[in-house]
Amino acid sequence: MNTDYDIVVIGGGIVGAAIARELSGYRLSVALLEARDDVGDGTSKANTAILHTGFDAKPGTLESAMVSRGYQLLSEYAKHTGIPVEHTGAILVAWDSEQLDALPGLRDKAVANGYDRCEIVDAAAVYAAVPNLGPGALGGLTVPDESIICTWTVNLALATDAVNRGTALLRGHRVERVDVTPDGTTLHTTAGPVSARWVINAAGLGADVIDGLFGHTRFTVTPRRGELIVYDKLARPLVDKIVLPVPTARGKGVLVSPTIYGNVMLGPTSEDLQDRTATGTSERGFEFLLEKGRALMPRLLDEEVTATYAGLRAAIDHGDYLIETDPQQHYLLVGGIRSTGLTAGMAIAEHVRDQLISAGLELTARNTLPDPPEMPNLGEAFPRPYQQTERIAADPAYGRIVCFCERVTEGELRDACHAVVPPAGLDGLRRRTRAMNGRCQAFFCGAEVKTIFEQQLEQNS
Ligand SMILES: Cc1cc2nc3c(=O)[nH]c(=O)nc-3n(C[C@H](O)[C@H](O)[C@H](O)COP(=O)(O)OP(=O)(O)OC[C@H]3O[C@@H](n4cnc5c(N)ncnc54)[C@H](O)[C@@H]3O)c2cc1C
Repeated sequence: MNTDYDIVVIGGGIVGAAIARELSGYRLSVALLEARDDVGDGTSKANTAILHTGFDAKPGTLESAMVSRGYQLLSEYAKHTGIPVEHTGAILVAWDSEQLDALPGLRDKAVANGYDRCEIVDAAAVYAAVPNLGPGALGGLTVPDESIICTWTVNLALATDAVNRGTALLRGHRVERVDVTPDGTTLHTTAGPVSARWVINAAGLGADVIDGLFGHTRFTVTPRRGELIVYDKLARPLVDKIVLPVPTARGKGVLVSPTIYGNVMLGPTSEDLQDRTATGTSERGFEFLLEKGRALMPRLLDEEVTATYAGLRAAIDHGDYLIETDPQQHYLLVGGIRSTGLTAGMAIAEHVRDQLISAGLELTARNTLPDPPEMPNLGEAFPRPYQQTERIAADPAYGRIVCFCERVTEGELRDACHAVVPPAGLDGLRRRTRAMNGRCQAFFCGAEVKTIFEQQLEQNS
């Protein structure tokens, strides 16, 4: 069988994009298949966007190793690509004696995870670090290297890099059926068949379904919804670091954190659902978060809410990431990348590469690779085009603001529409520029952004 590609990666989220990027650094033909019409439109677009040190992972797990390595890889990659990162640090707050007693164990756990910079501090130090914290904190644990990052830019940088390295990005290709033969696999997609020697399943919430198409019944994904509230930028002076609760068996709990776009977020909730598409927010979730927020930081509740959103973690009935190779089928599963995949994605890609080598795939590095892409900066803490006089002088489109809440210029909208991985719709344009993401939520700029998008699309066709 002559296959179309050596390797097909299913899923254009952070994990799939990172794997495609990694593998296209070798002399292989690689395709990245995504069911939706854009990359980064699944769980990778709606998370809390924290670059985790992995201090609280379960020591000895694959997840622990991947998060800690991923932290290093992504931090370095961000410097080369301009993915905005703010090293805010975090403080984990104990609100009762049981939580206070848990702090030494958490510090030891951090050390077991290879992170030795946590310190236990008393209540006075907690309030010195976060003066607007609600009353009742008894002590805390500092995590100086937890950071905030732009999850949208991470996904786009990895996908752009993969395409620049030769990956074929096939959007609108939902895999519905597979035919496995000893010489290769044909994936029957909504846009026709695609065949490959090796298939890598990084389909997030859909990974168990794809796994089933390969005849496996080893796990089930449960969509675990996390709802979040985004507060207005005027709230940002209230908190300059990530304020974490003591984690429980169900997850990391509700946090308050600055966002890379200059807002403050409160969340997420943690609720197991059946519906894998239920990314809407709920009144119950909103009320729950307000109650938590009232205790954590009462002054936050006086601020205006800009938006609410929800993401679905791909929780599985297995205490760790599930990354397994089937050498007979030339198939590799990347499952259960639950609540740390933004951080771990690049390390997972390295791990997948090593698994493929162990399974007998010969990899030869390409002699030359294109430089990593330079991504447009969406971070509030770094210069943006509307602030750059030289840039505006050279191209006045960067001086014409279209979205006033987020100060997004016509030049940025235009550039995004002509990028290596252009947006397929307005939501994709929002993730590439921040347009329509501010306090008016597109009320004032929506019509103009749409017009520009349509005009630029016409130029593309
Ligand atoms: C509320 C919340 C908070 C989080 N906070 C953090 C955090 O602070 N830090 C952190 O590191 N991580 C965090 N995470 C986790 C992180 O967001 C995920 O682990 C990561 O985004 C998973 O990426 P992925 O590529 O595996 O999945 P996805 O981004 O969901 O990508 C999978 C892709 O596969 C596609 N697909 C599915 N089925 C098919 C099919 N049949 N054919 C073709 N394509 C298909 C989907 O359309 C999707 O685009 C959080 C998650 C949530 C929900």
